[in-house]
Parts: sequence; C-alpha cells; structure tokens
Amino acid sequence: MRKKLVIGNWKLHGSLLENQGLLNRLKQELHHLEGVDAAVCLPYVYLYQAQSALQGSAIAWGAQNVSQFTEGAYTSCISAKMVAEFGCTYTIVGHSERRALKLESNQVATKRLLNALHAGLTPIFCVGETLDERDGGMAELIVRNQMLNVVYGLDDAAFALAKKLNMVIAYEPVWAIGTGEHATPEQAQRMHAFIRMMIAERDREFSEQIRILYGGSMAPKNAESLLIMPDIDGGLLGRAALVAEDFIDTCR
Ligand code: PGA
Repeated sequence: MRKKLVIGNWKLHGSLLENQGLLNRLKQELHHLEGVDAAVCLPYVYLYQAQSALQGSAIAWGAQNVSQFTEGAYTSCISAKMVAEFGCTYTIVGHSERRALKLESNQVATKRLLNALHAGLTPIFCVGETLDERDGGMAELIVRNQMLNVVYGLDDAAFALAKKLNMVIAYEPVWAIGTGEHATPEQAQRMHAFIRMMIAERDREFSEQIRILYGGSMAPKNAESLLIMPDIDGGLLGRAALVAEDFIDTCR
C-alpha cells in the first residue's frame, strides 16, 4: 500500500507575514493526520522560515527547483546542496512553468534531477502534455519522452539513489494547471498507469513503490474522485495550497 502524499506548490506567492499564518494553521490542523504525508514547496527565500516553523511537525518542506549547476560563476542560481542545508525533504523538478518557453529542456531537467538526488533531496519530477498535444493524440508520446529521462537517463547508481530517496513523479497536464479544469479521474488514471508501466520497464519493484501525484486544479471538491483511483497516489496543489482550508480538506 502506497501512502498518499499531498504537496503544496506555492509558486510565486507569499510574504513573511502571510506564510507564518498559513504554516501555523497547517501545523496545527495536520499534526494528527494519519495515512497521508503532507509537504509544502516554497520560494527559496522562505525556506528558512519553513524550517523554523515546521521542524518537528508532521509537515515536510521543499524547494520548487534546484540549479543544473553545482557550484561556480552562475549568478542567481541556487544549488541542490544549498537547499538541502535548510532541512528540505523535497524539490520540484521540471515543472511545466519552467519547461515553458524552453527555459528547461528534458536534458536540463535531468541534470537538476541528478543534482537533487546527489544532495539527498527527494525529487518531484513533473511531466505532462499541453492541450494541443492532447488534442493531437500525442499526450502519451510527450509524457513518454519526458519520462525517458527518468527511466533511462539515470545510471544505475543514480537510479538506486532515486529508489532510496523515494523519488516522486507528478503528472500535471498543462491544460489543467491553474485553469479550474481538472483531468477526469479516468484520464488521469490512464496516464498514471502508463507512467507506472514505464518505471516497470526499468525496475518492477520500484514501479510498485513509487508515488505518482496528480496536479492540475486539484481541490477539495474533486480530490476524492481522483485520489480513489488505483494509480493516483496524491496531489501536487497550486492554487488550493494557498488557502489553509483547501489544503487541509484535500489532505483529509
Ligand atoms: P494548480 O497548480 O493546482 O493551481 O492547477 C498545480 C501546479 O502547477 O503544480
């Protein structure tokens, strides 16, 4: 049985004051939640605040990305090692908002994934197709191409690390992100099963253990219908993660 995992992606939101209120609420309300792991991924500058607020609580925290570089003359980049110093469990990698405009190719996403693993962070590797790609019947092909980096782009040592750190995959159809229109449970289940099958091509045991999250307008009103599907192991929430009640209700 895979334990459900609900992660908030705060994106470019927050302030010291607002965060404190939200983090305190989550800490109070989720401390006795059983059967669900919960985490928040915040902007880098708030990682110290999250660490101070959440240490010792049931909620983990993480970053929204890490650099493809490890050290050097790379102005404004933040390395996985730096992020790990703030007690992070997770980092998102390859979110579609980063992939958009070709800021982050599949190759760059793989480098970031490797750096996260080597720093001891659990990557949440995001995949998903656009509406045009889905309408063109290419959704599985696109997701397959993105997944190839994970399935065959990691050498044996890195793959073993991914297993040990319980790497997470998030299926986030781009057309469902921030639109209020979520994939149907059947659409999402089909893609999740496909992703799990791809992992099984490399490692059957890991394919049964890996948690595959759904992301894209998940909210309390649709969470149950999605989370009841056999291959949907949790959610990556954007908008609903910014409202304490919505995040807590989704976890419940
Ligand atoms: P959303 O964002 O829940 O606002 O659709 C999800 C995400 O981008 O991770």
